[in-house]
Amino acid sequence: MESRPPDSPLCSACGRHPAHTFLTEIIDGLMTRSSLCNDCARAQQLAVDENGVSIHEAKCFYCGQKVASGSRNQPWELPARKLTMHYTCLRCMGLYHQLLLESLGTIPDHLSPEVQLRHMETLVVEVDSLVRSTISE
Ligand SMILES: [Zn+2]
Ligand SMILES: [Zn+2]
Repeated sequence: MESRPPDSPLCSACGRHPAHTFLTEIIDGLMTRSSLCNDCARAQQLAVDENGVSIHEAKCFYCGQKVASGSRNQPWELPARKLTMHYTCLRCMGLYHQLLLESLGTIPDHLSPEVQLRHMETLVVEVDSLVRSTISE
């Protein structure tokens, strides 16, 4: 039996089922929130990563605290993280995006896509370790 609390908001994708998965993604610098039912979350491969961890059980990638945000790892992030989803707590999410934006500015313009991809892969490793060292201070 599926439990449906009366205050549960409806899925923002299909509008028919109660939402159980809440996501905050930053797309082009804009914070986007979505609430998805289990079906739509599964359809978007968001509810569960390949290790079978749902966002409700997931821990922050950096500090292990309660997760506030989940986003899909991009192709250049996968080699470093080896996970489909990137889960972060509120603090690490802010720190990560701040450090990422700072580092993005160091990538030269007018690179070929392949060279840019290699830059991004290196950058993700650096930013991830920067976040870890900053929160452990
Ligand atoms: Zn839905
Ligand atoms: Zn964290």
